[in-house]
Amino acid sequence: MRKISAKAKRIHKDAILIDGHNDHLILKVEENKPLDFMTVNRRYHSDGTRLLAGGVTASMFMVDGHFLDRSVSLIEKTHREIEAHSDKLMLVTKTSHILKAKRTGRLGIIMSWESGRAARHDLDLLRAAYRLGLRCSTITHNEGGTTEYLSFGLQGTPSPCRYCELSDRDTFRRMSLGLTDFGKAAVKEMNALGILVDIAHANDAAIDDIFKLTTKPVISSHGGAFALCPHSRCSTDEQIEAIAASGGLLSVILFGKFIAKPPKRGSVKVVVDHIEYVAELVGIQHVGIGTDFDGLMPGQWPVIRSADELPRITDEMVRRGFSEADIRKVWGENYLRVFKATIG
Ligand SMILES: [Zn+2]
Repeated sequence: MRKISAKAKRIHKDAILIDGHNDHLILKVEENKPLDFMTVNRRYHSDGTRLLAGGVTASMFMVDGHFLDRSVSLIEKTHREIEAHSDKLMLVTKTSHILKAKRTGRLGIIMSWESGRAARHDLDLLRAAYRLGLRCSTITHNEGGTTEYLSFGLQGTPSPCRYCELSDRDTFRRMSLGLTDFGKAAVKEMNALGILVDIAHANDAAIDDIFKLTTKPVISSHGGAFALCPHSRCSTDEQIEAIAASGGLLSVILFGKFIAKPPKRGSVKVVVDHIEYVAELVGIQHVGIGTDFDGLMPGQWPVIRSADELPRITDEMVRRGFSEADIRKVWGENYLRVFKATIG
């Protein structure tokens, strides 16, 4: 592995780092294990200890979003974990908390949902989740529908999750049902409450609906540029332009299959290719990083296998000639702006 330059180390250490997506906590619940968040276990990509060692200031942690009982239970577990390690962790419910996490050398935890089905088509449940600390949500985790089999969808039909041509995407879009009535109400309520709207995993028809409705910046928390990797999870140029027009950002995922179509392989270089592409299309102020650490488990590894190796991304940006100011934007300042405009 290449040695990280002193300049990259210094920039990385000084910068505020905000990671748009981490699945560690929900993975532990799915595995029926205690959160045990500060213990290093290299079977996982991340934990509190290695995220801090990797220089992360705050990260959006998934606290479910599919099932109401499991979501509330995980939110409670997360609060307790933060209380048990209050010297290392802190809850983030507003932007100033991220600055405080940086000042005090702690890891900020931003609670997020991946899917909004847990709200069970009841805005009061969404409001209750906000009171418990929820500050970001996707509207789906690919699922869709309001049938008995898949109740309480925020989008009418599922999202495709595969490589495709741009023309296939247009066909999917025409065949898809976008936001359900509750999905539309939920986006409006998320704007009003201060829950950041995340288009990751939504189908293209639902994404169109979100852009029509939202009055606040939106993000794609863990994605990429479709022009570089033709996967339905990546955003088209048109969608990236709409994200930018909302004042939001696209944070680039670290999993190879979503940033490079085989036989091409993902790498730190390819992550930075996506960052550069978005920056050239809409400006450096609309791009970030969303690792998706401990997503796609077991057995699939991100291009950075362990959270403490995140400085490698900074090193690559330095080598490509990114200015320090631009690196700071990509790592955290863009997210700070988006949070300020959404969660307050
Ligand atoms: Zn995901």
